[in-house]
Amino acid sequence: MQTNILQGVLKGQKIAYFSMEIGLNSQIPTYAGGLGTLAGDAIRSSADLNLPLVAVTLISKCNYFKQKLDSNGRQSEQSHDWQPEKYLTLLPSVVDIQIENRTVNIRAWLYVYQSPAGGAVPVVFLDTDFEPNFVQDREISFYLYGGDERYRLKQEAVLGFGGVRMLDALGFQVRKYHMNEGHSSFLAVELMNKYCYDAEKVRELCVFTTHTPVEAGHDRFSYDLIGAVLQTLDLSLLKKYGGEERLNMTRLALNLSNYVNGVAKRHQEISSKMFSGYVIHAITNGVHSYTWTGEWYRRLFDKYLSGWMLEPELLAKVDLIPDGEIWQAHQQQKQVLIDFANQTSNIQLDPEVFTLGFARRATEYKRATLLFSNLDRLRSISQGAKFQVVFAGKAHPRDEGGKRLIEQIYGYARQLCGDVNIVYLENYDMDIAAKMVGGVDVWLNTPLRPMEASGTSGMKAAHNGVLNFSVLDGWWIEGWIENLTGWAIGSLSKESTEDPACFVKEKEDLYNKLEYVIIPTFYNRRDEWIQLMKNSIGKIAYYFNSHRMMHRYVTDAYL
Ligand SMILES: *Cc1c(COP(=O)(O)O)cnc(C)c1O
Repeated sequence: MQTNILQGVLKGQKIAYFSMEIGLNSQIPTYAGGLGTLAGDAIRSSADLNLPLVAVTLISKCNYFKQKLDSNGRQSEQSHDWQPEKYLTLLPSVVDIQIENRTVNIRAWLYVYQSPAGGAVPVVFLDTDFEPNFVQDREISFYLYGGDERYRLKQEAVLGFGGVRMLDALGFQVRKYHMNEGHSSFLAVELMNKYCYDAEKVRELCVFTTHTPVEAGHDRFSYDLIGAVLQTLDLSLLKKYGGEERLNMTRLALNLSNYVNGVAKRHQEISSKMFSGYVIHAITNGVHSYTWTGEWYRRLFDKYLSGWMLEPELLAKVDLIPDGEIWQAHQQQKQVLIDFANQTSNIQLDPEVFTLGFARRATEYKRATLLFSNLDRLRSISQGAKFQVVFAGKAHPRDEGGKRLIEQIYGYARQLCGDVNIVYLENYDMDIAAKMVGGVDVWLNTPLRPMEASGTSGMKAAHNGVLNFSVLDGWWIEGWIENLTGWAIGSLSKESTEDPACFVKEKEDLYNKLEYVIIPTFYNRRDEWIQLMKNSIGKIAYYFNSHRMMHRYVTDAYL
């Protein structure tokens, strides 16, 4: 039976899409955030469009933790191992690699993502947790982004070397290897071994997407560590392509790929500066339209824009939908979110009140607390016209700074209680994300520039007629038309927000636009507001979707 499933998806030459994390759905928790949901959306769109893709990732068996928040917002983690055998099929092939002079066996589980339109994309999950592997090797595929540098290096070796070997063992024919971020760069080294060190040949096979706009975010390993962990590797080869001093996984991918891209136009500019001498293109991210459109909007789009699932470009014709139905669908989705929030909290949100949403991994650069820079100002805004806020976001279990941010938000919420109602939803995942982007009025985004390579949650919001109010970073620079598709916080200057003048400007903009533009339009000029909602769909969602993104990868990178 396993071989049957496999046979069905083996045909033809594939694009092999490698990603350390993949977000297929919230039951298969092998993702941490944006990189994984993007990979999931790339897979969903590929299946809809019948693209010949096979995806490779690690099984991250113990990745999943349930976020618990006590009454002070202190995060604790409940481990919650998921059972791969419930969702995936174990395949018979086993490959191995050498780690610390031991043989580490790698097996694979298969998930086949089936598009309602008929296409299918196989996803191969690599797993080291089985006999006769030694205990310390069985853990390699447990924790996504867990452990220390040595652990990360082992994981990247399993993904890169193991992944290429596994695709060969399973019988996949691969025409291109796509590295989604530098975690999988070892695949290029494996291809060097396979093709007798013919770097030209390897480059022709490799596509690399970088996602990291800051120097410190790129994986680097010392050659001492590599010598100790991956003894069989030829260090001179790694030094030639990955840097003399330390192995930089991004450089390794840059040097061994013929096509390299960043994930938004601004990100491409930044990456080109960071890595001068390389040609870096831009393919701006997108989200899977059907997945991220709430139930009520799906119905509306089916009714008025038939075919939008396969051709989200049709969303440009959103003006065909009567205003009343746009508003009604929004209110339905808002009610779903508010019912959910009200069940989890003793603060009661009101569906008639203007609602801001903010959900991000709780980490410093996302600046979840910027909104609270001036509590008196928030109080005075809410005296003019009521507003409420829904938050969500998990901190990495070892990120104390991130955990403190959540506690701070709880503190502010308490201080503002009675003036501004604020709810923090526990355990942010793809399901909660879908509820939130489908049901708030405005989606707030306040990252420190230029840290947000693209960002995608705002695109999800746009699919539901939700308006973006965001710092001009990542994709929003491309989606933003002031007062038409949403609003900017701060200016388009290339200075980093660390510049104090920029910081002040962003804070002021946040409060001024909220008080004088956004909230009054919402309450007093409903017709105008609904036109803005339509613009969000017709001028953002029609373009910032992963169908357009995958079309671009095909024409620019894969062919
Ligand atoms: C979409 C999504 C993200 C990424 O959102 P950003 O805007 O890039 O921060 C992260 N986590 C989940 C669960 C998502 O659905």
